Amino acid sequence: MSRIAVVGAGIVGATIAARLILDGHEVTVYEPEQDGLPTSAGNASLIALPEIAPIASPGILAAVPKWLLDPLGPLAVRWPDLPALTPWLLAFLASATPGHGAKVRAALAQLMRTALEDHETLAAGAGLAGFFRQTGYLSLHDSEASVSAGLDEAARVKAALGYDFERLSADAARKLVPQVEGPFAAAIHQPGYWTVSNPLTLLRAYQEFVRGRSTMVAERVTGLSQGSTGIGVHTAGGGGTYDRVVVAAGVWSRELVRGLGAKVLLENERGYNTTFADLGWNLSMPIGFADHAFVATPLVDGLRVGGAVELAKPETAPNYGRSRAMRAKMRRYVPSLPEGGAEWMGRRPSTPDSLPVISLHPGDARIIHAFGHGHLGLTLSAVTARLVAALVGGSGGGVDMAAFDIGRFQ
Ligand SMILES: Cc1cc2nc3c(=O)[nH]c(=O)nc-3n(C[C@H](O)[C@H](O)[C@H](O)COP(=O)(O)OP(=O)(O)OC[C@H]3O[C@@H](n4cnc5c(N)ncnc54)[C@H](O)[C@@H]3O)c2cc1C
Repeated sequence: MSRIAVVGAGIVGATIAARLILDGHEVTVYEPEQDGLPTSAGNASLIALPEIAPIASPGILAAVPKWLLDPLGPLAVRWPDLPALTPWLLAFLASATPGHGAKVRAALAQLMRTALEDHETLAAGAGLAGFFRQTGYLSLHDSEASVSAGLDEAARVKAALGYDFERLSADAARKLVPQVEGPFAAAIHQPGYWTVSNPLTLLRAYQEFVRGRSTMVAERVTGLSQGSTGIGVHTAGGGGTYDRVVVAAGVWSRELVRGLGAKVLLENERGYNTTFADLGWNLSMPIGFADHAFVATPLVDGLRVGGAVELAKPETAPNYGRSRAMRAKMRRYVPSLPEGGAEWMGRRPSTPDSLPVISLHPGDARIIHAFGHGHLGLTLSAVTARLVAALVGGSGGGVDMAAFDIGRFQ
């Protein structure tokens, strides 16, 4: 049994803390925003088990110039922030090769193989039930070229993980989701997706479990230090010294890691959504607008429409015009979507190579990193928690951890 501090209680930190508590460790969690709505609270709610493609790929790069011309399109860069983003962007461009893509797919497939089972095991251990359901996913494609690219990707996923997929005509897709009335070329149905009833409710349930079984400190960690008696966690109120420290503070992990002398490329890919609480109708399954990089997910208590990527410094002010633009685009397909709804912006903590960092510090095994999950933090939270627990126990959890090592940035 070790005394372990976890920095951050988003879904990654909260599931790690829950796993470590269940393993019998004495856990202290530092989270300054106890009632906050971090990225983990407002995401699209998908357990996206078939998503193993890197964000940087030759195909994405080909689409980037067109996307960048539309300031409210699927991808935007806040140009005043460009100097700060340049090292990350250069690494992102450099990783957009077929060889790197194959490496990312193999690495993420390892995590996806157990991701669902890890969610179920952890939730059962923490006494949580009823949060996960298999919904499948329907992607709508505007052109034959887009359908063909989607089918190629679905075939690669089937080869790697065995998930089925099916091409559907627009009419057949409309039978599955009748609210989709507007025109599109064809759809792809992938039954392998699961959905969380509401990511905020799941987050609060894990935070509640952790609060009941460990110490929750409502303070921001300002720095970490390596001492002979343990790792120091520093806060305005004093902090403490621990056998091990897990850094799971989303995009803010970067400063803590750099303060310990390790390098990391971690930026925030901001995403926007709108949640409708009282529509009186809902979609029968999540739908994705494949050519516009956003999705609409039926939550247990509403409909969420969101996605897109905006590269900006974490502190740059939100541009909710992006939420409006997605709602307007969705109405081309789902004309019954009304105005209104609650707008939200979240920060995906993203590495340029689309792989999370789940790793020991390069020079000190008492420090463990768990961040950089990008578009997949909800999906990969429970498997990350299991792997962090394995690192604490001195093993790799049955996974080749090399691809997730922070050593790749040193
Ligand atoms: C629009 C959108 C849709 C998405 N959809 C999906 C989806 O469908 N499926 C999926 O798997 N993923 C999705 N994601 C990604 C997912 O939400 C993130 O990868 C995930 O939430 C990251 O979790 P996290 O715990 O690492 O970070 P966060 O949720 O950002 O949590 C970090 C926590 O650390 C705390 N913190 C920060 N600094 C400190 C400090 N110094 N000391 C102590 N605590 C600190 C913060 O207060 C925060 O609570 C989506 C993201 C967006 C933006």
